[in-house]
Amino acid sequence: MHKHLEQPIFKLIGQVADELQRPCFVIGGYVRDIVLCRQSKDIDVVTLGSGIELAEALCKKLGRGAHLSVFRNFGTAQVKYRKGHESWEVEFVGARRESYSRNSRKPIVEDGTLQDDQNRRDFTINALALCLNSDHYGELVDPFDGMGDIEREIIRTPLDPDITFSDDPLRMMRAIRFATQLNFRIYPDTFDAIKRNKERIKIISRERIADELGKIIRADIPSRGFILLDESGLLPFICPELAALKGSETIDGHGHKDNFYHTLTVLDNVALRSRNEWLRWAALFHDIAKPRTKRYDARLGWTFHNHNFIGAKMIPGIFRTMKLPLNEHMKYVQKLVELHMRPIVLAEEEVTDSAVRRLLFDAGNDIDELMLLCEADITSRNAEKVRRYLDNFALVRRKLEEIEEKDRVRNFQPPVGGEEIMEYFALPPSREVGELKSAIKNAILDGIIPNEREAAWQYMLDQAAQMGIEKKV
Ligand code: ATP
Ligand code: MG
Repeated sequence: MHKHLEQPIFKLIGQVADELQRPCFVIGGYVRDIVLCRQSKDIDVVTLGSGIELAEALCKKLGRGAHLSVFRNFGTAQVKYRKGHESWEVEFVGARRESYSRNSRKPIVEDGTLQDDQNRRDFTINALALCLNSDHYGELVDPFDGMGDIEREIIRTPLDPDITFSDDPLRMMRAIRFATQLNFRIYPDTFDAIKRNKERIKIISRERIADELGKIIRADIPSRGFILLDESGLLPFICPELAALKGSETIDGHGHKDNFYHTLTVLDNVALRSRNEWLRWAALFHDIAKPRTKRYDARLGWTFHNHNFIGAKMIPGIFRTMKLPLNEHMKYVQKLVELHMRPIVLAEEEVTDSAVRRLLFDAGNDIDELMLLCEADITSRNAEKVRRYLDNFALVRRKLEEIEEKDRVRNFQPPVGGEEIMEYFALPPSREVGELKSAIKNAILDGIIPNEREAAWQYMLDQAAQMGIEKKV
């Protein structure tokens, strides 16, 4: 393990600890990430006795460039250091023992041994400690065979999983999140305990759950996390609307696809091509209104009329409950959910210029990501069908470029403004002014006139004449 502790900071912390005659270890996620060769920033150091004292002594030794923050309530301290190219952050804490009461995930905390401190950790792979004192420098303390679990790619609790999860149910989300991020399996005993304790998730704040969901959706293959959420029984507590996508119904021998697994395929398809987290949320929710809009018609079979519009309307409520942000990211997700059928309809029919212009106008700068979502949405197992759709999409994409080059409607600015219209006809703000403006917009989008000022002005005058609006003299 020596080679991973080459940075001078670790030696220095060890020296300061030696001087205070204190055992001292790097512990938890940082050690796990060293073993897994993952990037990791936050270094956690645990010592016997006061972590704050050790941090203070280190700061004194470092002098300029070091900055200390003390959190007395938590008994922790943070040292930030920046000098030249070197820059890092270390959290210091005294080894502790924790005991829980049933109604809270806030434990009663007492001073403890290193072993106590490792016992309170959530998973074996998160309980590894590396000694920093000079006489045992770089020695690994691994009481639960966390190294073996890393090798076997397993998420497992150090102690009785029922107690671990009941004490702090957030750990159930963390288990699924780590399994997703690291592509590990959850140990069967551990997973069964999640199933038994699923209801306990109710005591966890929605913000904490949203943090973990964010980490799941940003992972390389996010579907893994949602499958585990479903299999553990947690999903209905976290997002009942997603859970409702599950299953398929058959009437008169006609079935429809399982929209949960379809959704997850779309999500993974998108994740392969984009790191945009909000595009991924849009993929997750693109068919969210299908259960609500599902009908069976003897002639048409299964239909989901308007599921895109109704889905877009459902987004704010879902975001509010799940404590996802109610800002421009939500608006973006709504917009993509609403528009996700448009390119498909276009690709199915003849690709007319005016339909392409309207799509460009409605999608604006999000057009490329919308196209990506739509291509990801083609999950048929029929290779011939997939190829036909993708070919049509390629045609739509070419048309989009061609039309944008010609007409520039992607960031449409009306070539004639409402103010001008009002001034010219001496009109107050009124229905007529609005009608004239939208007549110009529609004429441009439908290709009746080019997106140019002169043509737009002439068109406006003609329309006004037809509406009986006259210039006052
Ligand atoms: P990441 O930084 O990727 O979120 P991490 O494992 O480092 O993962 P942190 O929240 O940084 O997670 O926590 C650092 C360490 O603290 C963990 O590795 C684990 O040992 C311990 N820990 C964190 N949260 C819990 C918890 N809810 N229950 C028990 N131990 C925890
Ligand atoms: Mg961490």
